[in-house]
Amino acid sequence: MDTILVVNAGSSSVKFQIFAVDANARLDRVLKGQVDGIGSRPRLRATRASGETLADRAYPVEAIMDVPAALAVASSWLREELRITPLAVGHRVVHGGPDYAKPVAVDHGVVTRLERFEPLAPLHQRHNLAPIKSLLANYPALPQVACFDTAFHRRHDAVADSYAIPYRLYEEGVRRYGFHGLSYEYIARALPTLAPDVAGGRVIVAHLGSGASMCALRAGRSIESTMGFTALDGLAMGTRPGQLDPGVVLYLIMAKGMSPDEVQTFLYRDCGLKGLSGASNDMRELLVSHDPHAAFSVEYFVYRIGLFAGFLAAALEGLDAFVFTAGIGENSDAIRTRIGDRLKWLGVSLDETENARNALKISRPDSGIPVYVIPTDEERMIAEHTVSLLWTARSHANSERAS
Ligand code: ADP
Repeated sequence: MDTILVVNAGSSSVKFQIFAVDANARLDRVLKGQVDGIGSRPRLRATRASGETLADRAYPVEAIMDVPAALAVASSWLREELRITPLAVGHRVVHGGPDYAKPVAVDHGVVTRLERFEPLAPLHQRHNLAPIKSLLANYPALPQVACFDTAFHRRHDAVADSYAIPYRLYEEGVRRYGFHGLSYEYIARALPTLAPDVAGGRVIVAHLGSGASMCALRAGRSIESTMGFTALDGLAMGTRPGQLDPGVVLYLIMAKGMSPDEVQTFLYRDCGLKGLSGASNDMRELLVSHDPHAAFSVEYFVYRIGLFAGFLAAALEGLDAFVFTAGIGENSDAIRTRIGDRLKWLGVSLDETENARNALKISRPDSGIPVYVIPTDEERMIAEHTVSLLWTARSHANSERAS
């Protein structure tokens, strides 16, 4: 069986998936796994695509102290116990900076360029690159592909890609990138099959997970995002504040005496739903809580989504469909109902029976705008990009040999 390994590495966990690939580049998910608790209580867990448990085992802390060690444990488990040796590895890399508008085959030069963007995604980039570097060092012949959360947004018009700051900063990379691009790309590719009537039109996609953003699609292309230079902007998220007057950051530094590192931790870890509720960043807990702060955090989350729907509808100069995706968007009918109420002025009217069963189309037949729930699949998108670059490289190699 030919397989592709997809890796999504964070600070304390490495998530991975294996896809079987056939001669026609068709992909079939085989398993999902993760090594979490890196440096604290490491654990390898994996399930077949069907959900059946394949592994659930703890490791001593000194066995898995960092991301490369976690990947090494997952790789040897795959190789030795499942006899899986992937043809290629696709990695999720949060920031492709201004350079990359599509996935890229990785070599040492690419890694060096991507390291420049570490300050732009301080909680992610370094960890995303760690497994790439260790595989390059240990398996230099193994093809690796970096797939970026920013790439899908790289063709935004200059007005959407810029801040009103001196142009020299734009040139050095201070731009409104946008994130969750692999998720939006997956949805854009799914729309012609799932919602052919609107796929060529103006669509807002709301990716509502622990990180949350919204994207404006015109004919399947991203033209605007609620996120910008970093993944802090836009909607309120689990632990990030979303849109914030930069004056607040100045206040934290100058009046409160916080260091840049403290401000960074505060903005990425202590704000959003967690900061507002003072209790939790988990939407499930907030929805059942009787605490008024929890209720307010949910109200704020929904209110901002309504506001940004207006922003994106203005960018699109109208709206033909609205799509929910990711953990909250796919699973919470309660949140979708509340957002639906905020979108009434755009003509949205939800069918509560369809909404309650997470149906594909959750709007009423007479709704001015159809509303969909489409589960996203960023890992499949990464696997597709990886196979496509691998096949291209092979056909180049074959044609060079033939000539
Ligand atoms: P990420 O991949 O960014 O970690 P997910 O897309 O998995 O995030 O989304 C995680 C979020 O989805 C959490 O806030 C979680 O509470 C929320 N979530 C998952 N299922 C439900 C549900 N049934 N109702 C409300 N929120 C949910």
